[in-house]
Parts: sequence; structure tokens; C-alpha cells
Amino acid sequence: MTTLEFLGAAGTVTGSRFLVRTQEATVLVDAGLFQGAKRDRLANWEPFPIDPALIDAIIITHAHIDHSGWLPGLVRDGFRGAIFATPTTRKLCGVLLPDAAHLQEEQARFTNERGFGKHHPALPLYTTEDAANTMPLFRSVDFETPTEVAPGVVIRLTPAGHILGSSSVHLKITENERSTTLLVSGDLGRGNHPLIPGPSVPPSAETVLVESTYGDTRHPAAEQDVAELAQLIRKTAGRGGVVLIPAFAVDRTEVLLTVLRDLMASARIPRLPVYVDSPMALRVLQIYRSAAAEGDPLVCRPAIADRLASADSAIDQFDPGGGLHECMSVEESKSLGELTAPAIIISASGMASGGRVLHHLARLLPNPRNSVILCGFQAAGTRGRALVDGASSIKMLGRYVQVRSDVMMLNSLSVHADCDELCEWVESLETRPRTVFVVHGEQDASAALALRLRELEYNAVTPRQFERVRLP
Ligand SMILES: [Zn+2]
Repeated sequence: MTTLEFLGAAGTVTGSRFLVRTQEATVLVDAGLFQGAKRDRLANWEPFPIDPALIDAIIITHAHIDHSGWLPGLVRDGFRGAIFATPTTRKLCGVLLPDAAHLQEEQARFTNERGFGKHHPALPLYTTEDAANTMPLFRSVDFETPTEVAPGVVIRLTPAGHILGSSSVHLKITENERSTTLLVSGDLGRGNHPLIPGPSVPPSAETVLVESTYGDTRHPAAEQDVAELAQLIRKTAGRGGVVLIPAFAVDRTEVLLTVLRDLMASARIPRLPVYVDSPMALRVLQIYRSAAAEGDPLVCRPAIADRLASADSAIDQFDPGGGLHECMSVEESKSLGELTAPAIIISASGMASGGRVLHHLARLLPNPRNSVILCGFQAAGTRGRALVDGASSIKMLGRYVQVRSDVMMLNSLSVHADCDELCEWVESLETRPRTVFVVHGEQDASAALALRLRELEYNAVTPRQFERVRLP
């Protein structure tokens, strides 16, 4: 009997973990961390539902922490199998996982110093040592290359167009000479990403898991959204203010730099200095630069590689107006507090849940000259969501900060497909699946997408957390 268990990302957007079991093999697709609201984060402390030593292989769709961030925990608790992912996902995990571990250690240290925590001493979820022990278990799998990951389980990764290296996973699972197929969408992109190609049509499967981050939302047209972005940057520069963009270190920073570069090149915004203040974002930027230079059309849009190789490649693809400043050190970050002329700061984290961006927000939010631009999904319970929802003050670094700056939400640069695009992805499959499980969305979003798919006569359901089903 082949079974599928929803160990996360069911009724919530984070903690992607899907377990496939046969008599001969136990395979986990994604090993994500729960993020966002406290109720979700507490789920990270629950014991993993099965002994990690019993898992033969893990497949990671993409490097985002809500898909890969529990790997060090599983390795610490006894997982010794192989972790399969595309080469770029592997490289990105090499930056993200140690950083996630470092963040956990910092938080535990902070809690212990202040004596806030309920637990004494507060412990990190996992350590940088656990993250370091995870990386040697990775095995690279190229796109469109069938690979056996465990007895009777053959995977094929297809481009998902979400972030660099992101994939959908098709699994052919054979048990007692009978086979079933399962397709996990991973996070799906939109096809309009300036740097990476859109999602490919993956092979059909009897059972399909589709993400639903924006299962109830239609993104605005990019043109109009970028025009509003340009207008706000002009307005802010005109009144001598600073534009702060909290951005996810992976992908958002690269896309924003490309958009700003194009806006400056076409004189739609003035040439302002752009500061990227996130060591992790800067390390990720190097991985994007080298992927673009390698020129694999499944990984990076050929136009980007061409531009890099062309005569004017002295101008960095990711350097808007020649004014890019990479702030690696804490001193460089602190010096941004002295900025007196208009500038753009891009800093992590994207939902303002932590990181250097908090110091910039605390300084810039109270002044109406400045602007804060949020882009990408803002989970319920985060400061980013509170800002989008129009909060008049936000708690950070232990105090309440008044919000008097302009706040804008930039939706069109989303790396996630919207509800129409998610339906199109399901409909693009050559054969109709028997069942579509709608996962990786807040409850309303998942329910809305499932309803739309049922209207299109799919057998679409929203699984519950820890639900277990038999595969056909
Ligand atoms: Zn993602």
C-alpha cells in the first residue's frame, strides 16, 4: 500500500513536508520550517511524526526555508539518507541553511540574555553544526533527468519558474510491480520573471499536489504596479527621503535590482544610490550571477546570459545605474543611519520578521519623507502584513514605532502564480489527475482554489494537517 501524508503546508503556507511510504521506501518531499504566526512557529518544536532515521531520501523542490529549513533538524535527529535537489537549489541551501541556524542561535542567545523566555535556558531549533552536517548529504539532480532516489521511487524535476533552481517533482512509485504517479507542484512562478524561465508543463500524474499561496487572489498587471513603484520612488526622492524595501534575500533582491536598473536606464526614476544591506542576499546574488553566466536555458533566461556576455557587460546586470553598494559588514549597515540624501535600501527579511531591516524600519517609518515598499507574500502575524493592513504603529526591537512614512505593497513582482495561473497550471497537464490536493495556502486561499478546480470538474480537496491518504 502506497500512502501519502501531509505533515505540513496543509491549511497554512509554510512547513512543506509530504511523506510517501511504500513497503520498501520512505521518501519525504520538502522538509520545510513553519514560519509566520506564533501558532505555526510552535509547530517546529513538535517531534517529527516519524523517526528521521527511517526516511530513505528527501527531495527539495526549492531553497526557500519553508521548503528546506527543517533539514538540519532531521539530520540532527538521525536522518542519514540522501537529499536530492537541482544544483542551484543545493548551492542556495548552502547559504540559507547555515544562516537559518545562525538566526536560531542568535534568537536563543537574545532570549537567554534578556530572560524573556518561558524555557530556561532557551535552545535554538538547531545549530550551525547541524546545518554544516546537512550539506554533504545533498545530491544534485539536473532538470528533466529521471533519477531513482529510493527502491522503486523514480523522480523527475521540471522547472517551476519560482526562484532560481526551483522545481516541481514528479514521482513514479512502484510497489509489488504496481506503479502510481504523484506530482508535487512546489511553489509555482508566473512566467514573467525577468531572470528565470516560467514553469514547464510537467509529466501528468494520478495524484497532484498544487500550491495555493494566492489561491484566492489575482495579481495586478505588472505595468501598472511598476508605474506606481516608479512614481513613489520619484516622489520620495523629490522630498529628500529614503526608500526602504524589505526583501526576501533570495530572488526578490535580484528581481528588484533588475527592475530598478531598467527604471533608471529609461530615466523613469532618478539615478539613486542603491544599498543592498543583507550579507545573505549578497551571497545569493553571487549565485544568481554565476547561474546567469553559465547560461543553462532551463535555469536562467537566455537573454540574461546574452546581456552578460555582450559588449556592455562591463555594466553589471544587477547594478542599477552603476550605484550599487553591497553592505556586508555591520559597520556598513550602521552607516546607512547617516544617509542624508535620497537613496534606496534593500534589506532582509522580506516580511520584516527579523534581520537588519528592523533597524532601518525603526529609523525610517516615523518620518513622512520616507517610503517603505513591501513586495512578495506577507504572512498573517508578521510586521510586513501589519504594515500592508495599515497599522499606525508596529512593535519592533522591544518598542512601538509610529508609522508615518508612505507604505506601498508591490504585488505584481510576486514570485507566486495567482489563482488564474494556478488553474492554468493544473489544466496544462496532459491527462486529468484522479485527485488534486490543494496545499500550501492559508485556509481561505486553499478553499477558494479547490472550489474553482471543482467547478472545472476536478476532484479537488484541501487535506488536513497530518491527514494520510492511499495513493491509487
Ligand atoms: Zn518558495
